[in-house]
Amino acid sequence: MLGDVECSRKGCALPVVIDLPYAGEHLCRRHFQAFTEERVRRELHRQASGLKGGVLAVALSGGKDSGTMLSLLVRFLGRRRNVRIVALTVDEGIEGYRPATLEKAAALTSSLGIEHRIRSFHDELQTSTDEAARALPGIPPCSFCGVWRRNVLNRMAREVGAVRLAVGFNLDDLAQTVLMNLARGEPARLLQMAPHARTTEGLVPRIAPLAQIPEREVYLYARLTGIPFDHSECPHASRAMRNVFREVLWRLEEEVPGTRHALLRTREKLLEALEATQPASTLPRCAFCGEPSSKAVCRACSLRKDFMAEGSEVPP
Ligand code: SF4
Ligand SMILES: [Zn+2]
Ligand SMILES: [Zn+2]
Repeated sequence: MLGDVECSRKGCALPVVIDLPYAGEHLCRRHFQAFTEERVRRELHRQASGLKGGVLAVALSGGKDSGTMLSLLVRFLGRRRNVRIVALTVDEGIEGYRPATLEKAAALTSSLGIEHRIRSFHDELQTSTDEAARALPGIPPCSFCGVWRRNVLNRMAREVGAVRLAVGFNLDDLAQTVLMNLARGEPARLLQMAPHARTTEGLVPRIAPLAQIPEREVYLYARLTGIPFDHSECPHASRAMRNVFREVLWRLEEEVPGTRHALLRTREKLLEALEATQPASTLPRCAFCGEPSSKAVCRACSLRKDFMAEGSEVPP
């Protein structure tokens, strides 16, 4: 039992709350919280080193990851006069899931005294994830929902004049994305995932301050510190291809602790070579929504077109 073991930090005899095999440590509550905060602070500094001030947009879903990220960003940057933090939430229109998370997101922003903007797929795209899932039963909903959310969040972040958009991806999320892109033979997509290594006009660069924190540690931190969050799972999540990669990674991490960190380091090492093959460019704008896109019609708009009546136009 963890509670019977003493903390591995020198001179500390407090009971252990978590075992961290990849770090060779088992920590008490106090040292675990401090270790988590230190890693987020370091990562924030690394990813946003050139940030002199301005608006920091924070994508807030109401779940544990974005809630923890927002609380820590407010703690680290909230007192800086030259930084304004704005929380952005997207309501995808998912019954039995989104209303509860919206409630938690609102509770957190009001307790932190942070400006909070909410925008729905319904307002922005005249549809919802539930509606699209019903119309396109053969397509996993995450494939369009995620693209649409990125699109709406980028627009919202641009509207508030954000210099960065912080997203709550944890270590597991990012390691899964690296593995998925490599397994699909699409290494160039490593350039597009957060944290962004370079800027593209019209795309607010995304940072991922929780990049070094495993998912279960984010959960424990949120529980121990009383951050309000909703833990229910999206009803469409079981159809996501990501689930396969999640399981493979769990297995790998169990057998070879540190695999997730190694995947992130692999991405970092590949970035330089990828940047050389794909010089930064100014992307043209999508003909329908005006967002930056490498094609005439962006992926969000072409996915939306898929389920609209045949031959209909996607309104701007
Ligand atoms: S799990 Fe998939 S469908 Fe549900 S909110 Fe996330 S991306 Fe959208
Ligand atoms: Zn301790
Ligand atoms: Zn578009």
